[in-house]
Amino acid sequence: MRKQFMVIGLGRFGSSLTKTLIENGHEVLALDKNEQLVQDMASIATHALVADCTDESVLRELGASNFTHGIVAIGDDIQASILATLLLKELQVPKVTAKARNEMHGKVLSKIGADHVIYPERDMGIRLGNQLSSDNLIDY
Ligand code: ATP
Repeated sequence: MRKQFMVIGLGRFGSSLTKTLIENGHEVLALDKNEQLVQDMASIATHALVADCTDESVLRELGASNFTHGIVAIGDDIQASILATLLLKELQVPKVTAKARNEMHGKVLSKIGADHVIYPERDMGIRLGNQLSSDNLIDY
C-alpha cells in the first residue's frame, strides 16, 4: 500500500529515510528550513520544500493532516523537535515518529503524543555491539 509521509529535517537521517521511502514506492513531502538541503532532495522526494515546521500555519497550509505518517528528524534543536512533533499530533497525523537525542528528549516526545520514538545512535551502537559479539562472526 502506498503511504503518504511528511519528513521534517533533511540531515543525514531524514535524507536517507526519504530516499528509502521513495525507493519503496511511497509518497514523501520532504521539508527543511535549509534551502540547500531541500534542493539536494528536490530530484528525489515527491515534493521538497523550504519550511519552518515549528509554525502551525505552515504545517496547516502544507496539508499535514492528509498525511498518514509524519517523521520529525530534527536532533540538535530540541525545542524545534518538540514543537514540530506536538503540531503534527495536534493536526491529527495518525502516526508520528520522532527522533530523540537522549532519554530525556525521548520522554518528552512520548508525553506530547509521539507514537514512536527512535534513538538512532543508541540503537546502532546496540546493533553493532550484538553483531560483533555474535558467534557467527569469525573475524572482523
Ligand atoms: P543528522 O544526524 O540526521 O544529520 P541531526 O541529528 O544533527 O541530523 P539536526 O542537524 O539538528 O539533526 O537537524 C536535522 C535537520 O532539521 C537540519 O537540516 C535542520 O535544518 C532541520 N531543522 C531544524 N529545525 C527545523 C525547523 N524548525 N523546520 C524545518 N527544519 C528544521
